[in-house]
Amino acid sequence: MIRRSKGAIKGIVQGVGFRPFIYQLAHRYQLSGHVVNTPEGVDLEVEGPDENVEHFFQSVLSESPPLAHISSMERADLRPRNDKFFEIQESRADQERSALISPDVSICSDCLRELRDSKDRRFRYPFINCTNCGPRYTIIMDIPYDRAMTTMKKFKMCKACQREYEDPTNRRFHAQPNACWDCGPRLSLHDHDGHPIDRDTPVEKTIHLLKRGSILAIKGLGGFHLAVDATNHKAVVRLRRRKHREEKPLAIMVRDLEAAKEIAHINEIEATSLLSPQRPILILKKRRFHRLSPQVAPRNQIATLGSCFPTRPSTIC
Ligand SMILES: [Zn+2]
Ligand SMILES: [Zn+2]
Repeated sequence: MIRRSKGAIKGIVQGVGFRPFIYQLAHRYQLSGHVVNTPEGVDLEVEGPDENVEHFFQSVLSESPPLAHISSMERADLRPRNDKFFEIQESRADQERSALISPDVSICSDCLRELRDSKDRRFRYPFINCTNCGPRYTIIMDIPYDRAMTTMKKFKMCKACQREYEDPTNRRFHAQPNACWDCGPRLSLHDHDGHPIDRDTPVEKTIHLLKRGSILAIKGLGGFHLAVDATNHKAVVRLRRRKHREEKPLAIMVRDLEAAKEIAHINEIEATSLLSPQRPILILKKRRFHRLSPQVAPRNQIATLGSCFPTRPSTIC
């Protein structure tokens, strides 16, 4: 028997690869219909053999993408309409706004691999992202979560990015901040008056300035990080003086888990937590010998350090 059902799904279902997920499920179960972002979440309709529709809805709940969180799903049956295809429709923005927005998510392992691959077209591209990672909350100006409603709207995707964006089998299908060296935002380095210093090699120049003991403001997800070389005692003292921050512990940025282990003891649970998509700052037991300035966490009686996560700033507390 042919059946048509609609589902209204609420929760964190925008900006987390939910529509591509639904699209792929509909194909797996050979269903027609559509899915659309709404100001409240995601609405979908599917049509096909009774049993397939049932399996589809079970899979929606049991296989949803890692960053999605379904808080409710209402289902109802409709009269079959004999659609030929399954499609992702344009978002609707005509109702009350109550969809939940995903937080920003740390870089995923697939993107990290591309970032480090000299043959990849996004080799060392600092704004690399995909459906499973990247900025969300920071770039959203309004919902539904579509590129036109984000700060990325002024960057028109190049042909290669557009192809990924439109390909349901690509992991960047409908990834709203999708970008590359050819079409996306670039890094630049400015002096304290806002004048550009370096547009060609800003990362190298920043490293050079940090090594010299300068204080840098690095604009990233959620705001600015004030950064100094944590092993440079004078630089840390100067940062504290300028911030009028006498003893509150400072966060530490490290390259990876191995680098974090050189300054703190890290057990398995802590390691798993540090590497989770949220990349939290942890308070860890510091090693007796490390190269950091004591001013990173002064007058700390219980010998702990806030910690460090790969590819994102972190802390010593
Ligand atoms: Zn990714
Ligand atoms: Zn591009």
